[in-house]
Amino acid sequence: MPTEPQNARRIGVFGGTFDPPHLGHLAVAVNVRHALRLDEVLLMVANHPWQKDGVRAVSPPEDRFALVCAAVAQVDGLAASSLEIELGGPSFTANTLAALHERNSNAQYFTIVGADAANGFDSWERCDEVAALSTLVVVDRPGVVTHPPQPKTGSWVHVEVPHLEVSSSDLRARVADGRPLDFLVPLSVAHEIERRQLYRVAGS
Ligand code: ATP
Ligand code: MG
Repeated sequence: MPTEPQNARRIGVFGGTFDPPHLGHLAVAVNVRHALRLDEVLLMVANHPWQKDGVRAVSPPEDRFALVCAAVAQVDGLAASSLEIELGGPSFTANTLAALHERNSNAQYFTIVGADAANGFDSWERCDEVAALSTLVVVDRPGVVTHPPQPKTGSWVHVEVPHLEVSSSDLRARVADGRPLDFLVPLSVAHEIERRQLYRVAGS
């Protein structure tokens, strides 16, 4: 691992489909930021989450980005990133990190993943590049046994976060059934879901 300049910005990259973003995501982002003294955590909205191909229809990236903007608007140190949307095509974290390094090669990057994503890390496109370009940060997720990734290069750390059993899948089902989203997403996100008429049809 190259030695970083002492004043290098420390940036967390928390990728997801965020369809929709919820309090589980936000609790991860603020707690990892605090634990690792990150300057900023980017909630990186996947353009085309290839892992969900054939599993379900994903909402348009513009809708998901708007929801993430609403989610982070009042939160210090968190920002929504549309970089993967600008890059287009399938979203591979290796490409995202390469693009971030190109923009700011002095920064130190931290790729944040929940246990379910961490368990599939070996199947990620060019996962060794992800591990070489960033420190992996693994957080637990309720109902999932964490198997830490074993990158050939680079390092990983585990950060303790509150275990919140919230998922986007459950939230979409709630909207389709007319059940409340209260206390599971910020009010601003609930309003944006309603304004954009998202998730009204089951399985959408
Ligand atoms: P879906 O149910 O549609 O898969 P999700 O809730 O899993 O949605 P994603 O956008 O798929 O949300 O997840 C993005 C990242 O956030 C992943 O690394 C995932 O492990 C992590 N994550 C999501 N929800 C939680 C949670 N409640 N606690 C910890 N990590 C979470
Ligand atoms: Mg998921």
